[in-house]
Amino acid sequence: MSEKTPSEEIIIEGIAASPGVAHGRAVVYLQKQLDVPCYDIPEAKIEAELERFEQAILETRIGISKVRDKIADSLGEGEARIFDAHLLVLEDNALLDEVTSELRSTRKNIEFCFNKVAERYMAFFRSMEDEYLRERVADIRDVSRRLLHNLIGMQTVNLGQLAAESIIVSEDISPSDAADLDRTKLLGFVTDGGGKTSHSVIMARSLRIPAVVGTHDATMRIVSGDPILVDGYEGIIVINPSESRLFKYGKLASERKKRDATFNSFIAEPARTADGASIRLMANIEGIQEMEQVKAMHAEGVGLFRTEGIFLRHHGYPPESVQYEEYAAVVEAAGDQPVIIRTLDVGGDKLIGDENVKEDNSFMGFRAIRFCLGNVDIFKTQLRAILRASVHGNVKIMYPMISGLNELRAANQVLAEVKQSLLGEKIPFAANIEVGAMVEVPSAAMIVDLLAAETDFLSIGTNDLIQYLIAVDRLNDEVAHLYDPAHPAVLRTLKAIIDGGNAAGTPVSICGEIAGDPIYAGLLLGMGADSLSLTSSLLPEVKYFIRHIKKSDAEALVKEVLQIGDSEEVLGKLEAFRQKALGKLA
Ligand code: PEP
Ligand code: MG
Repeated sequence: MSEKTPSEEIIIEGIAASPGVAHGRAVVYLQKQLDVPCYDIPEAKIEAELERFEQAILETRIGISKVRDKIADSLGEGEARIFDAHLLVLEDNALLDEVTSELRSTRKNIEFCFNKVAERYMAFFRSMEDEYLRERVADIRDVSRRLLHNLIGMQTVNLGQLAAESIIVSEDISPSDAADLDRTKLLGFVTDGGGKTSHSVIMARSLRIPAVVGTHDATMRIVSGDPILVDGYEGIIVINPSESRLFKYGKLASERKKRDATFNSFIAEPARTADGASIRLMANIEGIQEMEQVKAMHAEGVGLFRTEGIFLRHHGYPPESVQYEEYAAVVEAAGDQPVIIRTLDVGGDKLIGDENVKEDNSFMGFRAIRFCLGNVDIFKTQLRAILRASVHGNVKIMYPMISGLNELRAANQVLAEVKQSLLGEKIPFAANIEVGAMVEVPSAAMIVDLLAAETDFLSIGTNDLIQYLIAVDRLNDEVAHLYDPAHPAVLRTLKAIIDGGNAAGTPVSICGEIAGDPIYAGLLLGMGADSLSLTSSLLPEVKYFIRHIKKSDAEALVKEVLQIGDSEEVLGKLEAFRQKALGKLA
């Protein structure tokens, strides 16, 4: 916990992950084991320590009862019963007496004593034969977390019901947390861990919510309720921001607003360079809720529909009808424009249902197409839903994480079987639906000619491709500084993939986060990419940038940077190119 006085400004540094500035109240959301402090209590303070314990029990009881009532209202009494078991833990006199005697005999602080006794109880119940008794471990764990949060001064947070103007401060925000988040109340977020391409950051950018990640210890220094300012441009957080700082940021916000208005004024214009070259700018989405913005931003279709969004929101594998409804709604909203639906990319940090468990090395594990080929029923249900939706417009199917031809062919074989059964059932679908593969594994990049020959299009997933090429976990803040899109190996690989696709006449798109960054957008255009797919909120700036460069200059830039061995130097060239195009708006 920080030793700050109420009005003192404290600055915490992290990685700028999603641009913008937010000023609001911190909501500290903890998932992992708490660090329980341990210190001596003088004899005279023992009674006060016991009072603190009683107060925390009372607060915890009130908290649990509130959640219980809410669950009973929304999901029914059956679902709420678990919380009765939690309340009983707080009435367990044997446990509470043991905590009191632990305090009196050891004279350690109450949270330390409570934690010790709770751990002892959990170990005891864990060793029981009786299943009912073993299940009490989970009850005690949940209750002790809540109680410890209350003792240590941190709240248990319901992400689905945030107070207005909340800024979440967490160790991490998992994709399933992100799916639960009440996005209408969320002003920004801060995480101790994470990298620039984590799922929560991608979500933040699409919602235009400022985010700073990789702070290491923000959750220990910020307390729920603290007024904080999150600067997603510079990657800093200010606790108790002063009036003069808020004034400075207010000015920055109005400058940014003007800049955005200039970008927006070109939004209906074509994405064409000053020397007449066009590039298709498409949108990355996670669900139907984003289509209004996609249309408003004049995206030329959806280049990446991350279907995991639907699964995460349903906390499981939704039936064909639910999937069909959402795919069809997106396709209809897109009108004549194409919608590239990516089949389920589960695994890695995106965990859904029982089939899908957290693995060591999860990004290299049973993920995406591997998972779908190992769970063919889940895969077939999704393919049926996509094929059925294909009659509503221009749908394309894309497989994630293809690492070789055999995987591509195996996926196509399942697709052929699904088509066959739909034919048998006389259910209509677009017979000539285009099928493409993501290129995001280095092995796929090395055989791009072979993949291009057997696909209708390719899309480069740079978020993963970079992590696999440089062997740098995209979520690990300890190695975030090595996650480098300007690395010469990345640039050469991108060029080779685009060249490979072009040689085969197979269009190549880029749908990783770099496609939404003008620093890289010009480079990708110069390399010969056919389209870029990006978070629609970033589209106005990228379009403005494209309209203010020449393709011939972008090609010259590609030639130049491909000769450079040092990525800092590459970045310098790319930044100079960006600044020249954007001028005062850079
Ligand atoms: C990628 O890897 O670049 C990509 C677009 O997919 P995701 O971020 O969903 O893994
Ligand atoms: Mg990917």
